[in-house]
Amino acid sequence: MRAIYRVFLVVLLLISPIMVLAEVAEPEVQFNAASLRPGDFLQIKVKAADDALVKVGFLERGYELWKNEKDEFIGFLPISYYNAPGDYQVSILVKSRTLDWVKTYPIKVLGRTFPESRISVPESTRKKVLSNSSVNSDAKITTKARLEAIESGILSLWEGPFIWPVKGRISTGFGRIRYVNNAENGRHSGIDIVSPEGTPVLAVNRGRVIYAGNLNVTGLTVMLHHGLNLFTSYCHLSVIAVNQGDQVEKGTVLGKVGSTGLSTGPHLHLTFKIDEVSIDPELFLERTIAWDFPETN
Ligand SMILES: [Zn+2]
Repeated sequence: MRAIYRVFLVVLLLISPIMVLAEVAEPEVQFNAASLRPGDFLQIKVKAADDALVKVGFLERGYELWKNEKDEFIGFLPISYYNAPGDYQVSILVKSRTLDWVKTYPIKVLGRTFPESRISVPESTRKKVLSNSSVNSDAKITTKARLEAIESGILSLWEGPFIWPVKGRISTGFGRIRYVNNAENGRHSGIDIVSPEGTPVLAVNRGRVIYAGNLNVTGLTVMLHHGLNLFTSYCHLSVIAVNQGDQVEKGTVLGKVGSTGLSTGPHLHLTFKIDEVSIDPELFLERTIAWDFPETN
């Protein structure tokens, strides 16, 4: 018995420093880039203890990261078209049973010029559709849908490259400074793709329908959640072909091109959002999002 006890003690003494080292090891943090432009997004990956809670602060917003199948905590951080160029910080908080850790990392936001875009609609339409109550009522619906989706904790539903929802040229680019009847009206939150009325609109990748209905500004609208905090919206449709709660595959027909809501003719307005922040759709279309990026810090 004594010999067994001694062996047990020796083994314990040998492994305990390793256990202590493993427990107090600093989390490993990786970003896919060190500098970005307004409208871009940052990918972050943190290796930390299994039971850790990983929170991130960036550009005055807070994010929680998701644990993937490799036990890495991953997430997207958006940079809005409203963010001025400059030197910013990402702060990372890791809390676990044995660790309470905070560290900040520098991120540079570069300059980017967005051209203007002017449209004209009947003045009565502009006043009605773009009134505070009309815009706020839309935002209440879409924000609630996004928050519920984020809280669901669903990891990436998407697979491989994102496809174009319709084929056509881009008539109005992302982030353009929008004037409606010469009154400034924020930024163009997505891209307008020229396409004839009735053209089938396809899901850019696998996702879950979190909203399918009529909104004041964007007319008949379908919103998809692709996992994490990534969303796409398909606006001004003439017909909706899916229901809220449906899981759709890449290429599933969501509806048809139309001109409902505030629109001057048939086209598809497509947005990509991370949380509530609009991101340049061209960073996703025909591209694959990978998480095996090289270390940048
Ligand atoms: Zn548009």
